[in-house]
This record gives sequence, C-alpha cells and structure tokens, in this order.
Amino acid sequence: MDINKLQRENIKNLRPYSTARDEYKGQASVYLDANENSFGSPLEKNYNRYPDPLQLDLKDEIGKIKGVPIENTFLGNGSDEAIDLLYRAFCEPGKDNVIVLPPTYGMYEVSANINNVELRKVSLLPSFQLDLEGIAEAIDEHTKMIFICSPNNPTGNSIIRTDIETILANFEGLVVIDEAYINFSKQRTFIQELTEYPNLVILQTFSKAWGLAALRLGMAFAARPVIDILNKVKPPYNINQATQDIALEALKNVEQVNEWIRITVSERDRLSKSLAEMDLVKKVYPSDANFILAEVTDAEGVYNYLVEQGIIVRDRSKVTLCEGCLRITVGTSTENETLLNNLKSYQA
Ligand SMILES: *Cc1c(COP(=O)(O)O)cnc(C)c1O
Repeated sequence: MDINKLQRENIKNLRPYSTARDEYKGQASVYLDANENSFGSPLEKNYNRYPDPLQLDLKDEIGKIKGVPIENTFLGNGSDEAIDLLYRAFCEPGKDNVIVLPPTYGMYEVSANINNVELRKVSLLPSFQLDLEGIAEAIDEHTKMIFICSPNNPTGNSIIRTDIETILANFEGLVVIDEAYINFSKQRTFIQELTEYPNLVILQTFSKAWGLAALRLGMAFAARPVIDILNKVKPPYNINQATQDIALEALKNVEQVNEWIRITVSERDRLSKSLAEMDLVKKVYPSDANFILAEVTDAEGVYNYLVEQGIIVRDRSKVTLCEGCLRITVGTSTENETLLNNLKSYQA
C-alpha cells in the first residue's frame, strides 16, 4: 500500500514551513536568526528560545518506554490534534469519507465535521464488538480512515484483536486504533504490529494513566510515511517547551504511574462488584479501562441525585446502545467509597 497516494493532493504538493532551526541545525554561541528575546524570560527558567519542532529528546525517552523509534513517533497537542491532522492530511473535504463505530469517542465526529469530511457510522453490535460485514459494506473508494477505539469509550470493552487484524489486512486506508485506555487493559497494545501494517496508526495519550491531562500531550505511532506526512502538516512548534520539559520529568516517574494503574484496576474491579450488587443497578458492563459503564433503573434521577451530593458522573443514557447508562470514572478508594455510600442512600 502506498501511503503517499492516500494523502490529499494539496498536501502531496505542500512545501512545509521551514523554521530557523530547520535551516541551521548545528550548535552556535550567538543565535540571531529567530527574532527571539536574547536577554531571557521574566521567569526563573528561560523560555525565550523556540522549542525543538520535532521534540527529539522527548520522543527518545518515550521510545525507551514504548519501544518505538523516533521516526515512528508523532507528538500532538493532545491526541485530539493528531486526530485533526489525520483528517487534514488524508481526507479531501466534500469528497472523502471516514468510518466510525458508535457508541464511541466524540472527537472523531467533531473533527470530521470541522473538516467537512463525510462520516459513515457503523454501529457496534450489541456485544460492543465490530460489525465486520457492516463495515465492509460502508467502505468505498473514497473511504480514507476507520477509527477503532480499544478499549472503547464509553463502553469500556476491548475490541477483539483478530477483528481489528482483519480490517488492517483488508482495508486500503488508514486504520486508527485509539489506545487512550490501553494501560488499564488486559489486551496488548498494537505497537508490536507497526512493522507489519503500513496503514496502522496507534493513538495514545498522557491524559489518562499518566495523569497529565492539563499538559495536552498525545502520541501517534505509525510507519514512517504516515509520520512524515503528519510532521509536514503540523504547526511548526506544536508542543511547547514547558510541556516538553514537564513530560521529560514525568517520564522519570513511570513506577508511580504503574502503581496507580495497579490500584485503578483493582479499584475498578471492586467498584464493579459493589455496583452490581445494588438494586438500582441493572447491569455493569465489563471494563478494560479506568471507567465503568453501568445501566441503572433511572439514569437521569441517579445522575441528578449524585450532582446534588457533589458527585459528577457522565450521563450516557441517551446514547444508542448505552440506554439508561452512566459512565463512572474510577477514582481513589475514598472517592469510590463516597460514590457507593451515596448510591446506597439513594436506594433507601
Ligand atoms: C480521553 C481520550 C483521549 C485523549 O485525548 P487527549 O486529547 O490526548 O486528551 C483520546 N481518545 C479517547 C477515546 C479518549 O477517551
């Protein structure tokens, strides 16, 4: 498969912005090439120089944890930026289409709408797994991408691996696997499959397990041609210096993150069990993520009651296949206990 043929015609012909740092990459003692403030910053730490446009140090450290080379790594201002750039680089507005598999993460649809790209929805099966026949029927010669979220938000389940592999092997466009919740899953990441599929794009993020949602830092892993195209289209300095510095610090604390993941998974299983025992809970769906989808007897009533108690969950009760469901993020054990106690008093 020729990834370069997949990109939009104008992107194929695009000459990207060339930064001062692109034009001189060596070390020098006097930099007078970027119109920066040579005195410094009115801060303890200096931020007066433009950051590395390709974030090589940060990608190198991420690579040590993820096992992905720098040239197969893209960093975005959140995964949301990677999603938007994929649309902008590969989808001709008003002509191409992408496939999403609801109920799923909302940004795939918003980004499609912003970019005026037709969205084709193929609902998940009631088991929350892929409707492979439906997907095959929805694909035509203008289908550029399929978004698969695994573990899926808001349902919490992982998608069957062999089903994803079937799509990867047969679809002639990009297969974007959103692994925002992979750290909480029993399933393996698709990172090891990168060398096998030129059309595979994996999204991960620092917003969930890594506890850095405020930083806005997302990762995309893919074969070299996809990464090169994303780098060509992205804003030159899309990851600011403060984010690069802080993320490098955070990566030194991977042990802390792994400890939180273990606690979250054990709290998730405890919370699932306790919820399932409650009369007001009709069903607790199995979760591979850091949240639980639960069907309750009166979703709106329970939601409003919890709000009155100062506890906010996500009301997904109007979403197809999630009728009557609340999506509950797994918190600290104290927070989960507070939630359970309040739900018990709702029952009474
Ligand atoms: C939270 C989430 C993300 C993260 O997006 P960021 O822009 O990196 O914060 C991505 N995909 C899914 C499915 C999510 O739920």
